[in-house]
Amino acid sequence: MKAVVAGAGIGGVTAALALIRAGWDVEVLERAPELGEVGAGLSIAPNALRALDSLGIGEKVRAAATPSQAAYNLCVPSGERLRRFDPAHDTPLSCFHRADLHRLLAAELPDGVVRTGCAVHSVTEDGEVVHDAGRVTADLVVGADGIHSAVREALWPGITPRFRCTVWRGVTEPGVEEAGTFTFGRGAYFLAHPIGGERVYWALAVHERRPGVRYADDLAEVRRRVRGWHVEPLLDATPKVLHNDVTDLPPLPAYVRGRVALLGDAAHAMAPDLGQGACQAIEDAVTLAAVGLEGYDRARLARTRGIARMARRKGAMALTTSRLGYALNRLGMRAPAAVIRKQTEKLWSWTPPTARAAG
Ligand SMILES: Cc1cc2nc3c(=O)[nH]c(=O)nc-3n(C[C@H](O)[C@H](O)[C@H](O)COP(=O)(O)OP(=O)(O)OC[C@H]3O[C@@H](n4cnc5c(N)ncnc54)[C@H](O)[C@@H]3O)c2cc1C
Repeated sequence: MKAVVAGAGIGGVTAALALIRAGWDVEVLERAPELGEVGAGLSIAPNALRALDSLGIGEKVRAAATPSQAAYNLCVPSGERLRRFDPAHDTPLSCFHRADLHRLLAAELPDGVVRTGCAVHSVTEDGEVVHDAGRVTADLVVGADGIHSAVREALWPGITPRFRCTVWRGVTEPGVEEAGTFTFGRGAYFLAHPIGGERVYWALAVHERRPGVRYADDLAEVRRRVRGWHVEPLLDATPKVLHNDVTDLPPLPAYVRGRVALLGDAAHAMAPDLGQGACQAIEDAVTLAAVGLEGYDRARLARTRGIARMARRKGAMALTTSRLGYALNRLGMRAPAAVIRKQTEKLWSWTPPTARAAG
């Protein structure tokens, strides 16, 4: 049985790995000339680690991760902590430089599985894929080609990403200590995760009315927006800043059509506010390999739609510019620890279908 995966991001590479483990003959077609990830850092939550456990690589990934307390160290701009990570009860996130995690996953694939410099142009329900070098027919085609997916556009045309907010991201030079913090301002939040090698990944998300606003000097703009915040030393140690508008997708009615399945951002790109986009791509990948096309929508639609909805709502609340909204956010940060744990538990307690069958 032959599977073609469009896209070798975190979702595509994990899908290829899961399908190979399940006995498929897999070819991955990646548009970029070289394999890799651009961007800064990434947190991986226990639900995705459990998915990777089912592929036998969870321990390797854990060993390469740096723990971050950011989900529980909640601060205001002065640096005052309204909530503090409790090592006895709170689970840290596993953090990476994106390129490091991607390299680790891709290294698990046998040589020759990924064909780089080969963009997918279109696909039919019967599994015929047209790409840069010709065409191929497969029993299963996986659209893992990101938010602007060509696979989705061929079979689910006209789905337009929606603007959510704008984000600056950076990675410090080595030599910075950080346990992981989440700092809420009015209309902006600043996230900091340690990612190993004494480096820190940070992201500043801000409310913006429209996409496409650009700045001559991004680092200067970040400094302007967080002047007086306790995070300024991180900016002093940051050589380069990325600036992106963030978009998400409206919910799709299904992720399967004929022999084709969508996963990750191609299926349900979500606001980054729960740190679950890549985690859900990983869940999708192991689920598809475990349940096949027949069971995939049943297993994935409700969960991913619910999480995307939650991320959108959380983002809107976290980036509110109203005084009342911000006051409520601060109150929320003082909610009992059990309430915050319950919210994360809902996301993090997922187990992959193979584990369920075995257990
Ligand atoms: C600011 C920000 C912070 C985030 N933080 C987190 C976090 O902490 N934790 C988390 O879990 N998620 C996070 N996310 C979400 C996460 O980055 C994405 O959900 C995840 O990377 C999606 O992976 P993917 O493989 O589905 O898609 P992508 O990473 O977009 O990969 C798609 C791949 O397909 C290739 N491609 C595109 N078109 C074609 C084509 N036509 N033919 C062939 N190949 C093609 C691309 O080159 C790329 O390699 C964050 C997102 C943002 C914006």
